[in-house]
Amino acid sequence: MKRIYNFSAGPAMLPEEVLREAAEEMLDYQGCGMSVMEMSHRSEMFENILSEAEQDLRSLMSIPDNYKVLFLQGGAHLQFAMLPINLMKNGAADYIITGHWAKRAYTEAKKFLKANAIASSEDKTFSYIPDCSDLPISDDADYVYICENNTIYGTKFHTLPNTKGKTLVADVSSCFLSEPMDVTRYGVIYGGAQKNIGPAGVVVAIIREDLIPDELPDQVPTMLRFKTHVDGGSMYNTPPCYGIYICGKVFKWIKKQGGLEGMKAINEKKAAVLYNYLDSSKLFHGTVEKSSRSLMNVPFVTGDKDLDAKFIKEASAAGFENLKGHRSVGGMRASIYNAMPIEGVQALVNFMKKFEAENS
Ligand SMILES: *Cc1c(COP(=O)(O)O)cnc(C)c1O
Repeated sequence: MKRIYNFSAGPAMLPEEVLREAAEEMLDYQGCGMSVMEMSHRSEMFENILSEAEQDLRSLMSIPDNYKVLFLQGGAHLQFAMLPINLMKNGAADYIITGHWAKRAYTEAKKFLKANAIASSEDKTFSYIPDCSDLPISDDADYVYICENNTIYGTKFHTLPNTKGKTLVADVSSCFLSEPMDVTRYGVIYGGAQKNIGPAGVVVAIIREDLIPDELPDQVPTMLRFKTHVDGGSMYNTPPCYGIYICGKVFKWIKKQGGLEGMKAINEKKAAVLYNYLDSSKLFHGTVEKSSRSLMNVPFVTGDKDLDAKFIKEASAAGFENLKGHRSVGGMRASIYNAMPIEGVQALVNFMKKFEAENS
């Protein structure tokens, strides 16, 4: 069996321990004689899987009781629409545009309400997080929206915006459970599982109760109402059962790493290995302003397109896969989510050093 170092931005690596456990349970989950994939979602066994996953997530993130935890489908993209549909009261919202995904969310929201782009870092190819300490927050904004970690550009909000009392909504797809966060500062936190917490097909949404409307216009589809999923306990219809089961295993794995504090310490150490090298290298350099750097996604370039291509090709041959940067940035990107072991980052840096020596 061969396992590569997979630097994919998503779907991404999962902890090997989780995959092994799932493999062991594939044909016979805990002596029930079937796979979780074959199990009724209304069975007691699956209900336990779901409620344990929720409890573990609640304890990891210290989610207060007045927040609902939902396991949904449709990717982060469906939330781009569900958020304005459900949170709209005055019919306005403020968006901070820090990259491709924030822009997608903003564009989708415009279908439903008056979305205002109140800040942007597009002037410098989204290579920094704008100063959000005193933005022109709209008086009638129902919420302020951020993409907390920008997967493509490798930036992260290290300070949350001053929303001047308005509800903060955050897409945390690519930084979910990578470090502690104060849930009480947000109205909604949501993210797709496939970056940091499980397989594609699951979206976790953490929503403050008072933001969930009882009534919405008749034509709003049942499946697009948060209340449907709250009332149904994430099981109004068949949930993504197997994905939730894997997420649950990842939550337990994170607990074993020392919870989110432990995860943060590991992630900081890991990212430092790569950033320290990038800062000292004469060939490679990072593309992001230092104060905005993400712990999860690290874009870098040589400054020469042909050399970038050569690096990606040779890296792949050496077992370092999916290092090609997003087409909008070019160059390289190493996604070093929770499941990437520090050995993987060290091995990558050693490989980069060798490449630098051979090509300068
Ligand atoms: C990957 C990603 C998305 C898109 O997720 P889908 O599940 O494909 O809809 C949205 N936001 C962020 C921050 C992402 O990293």
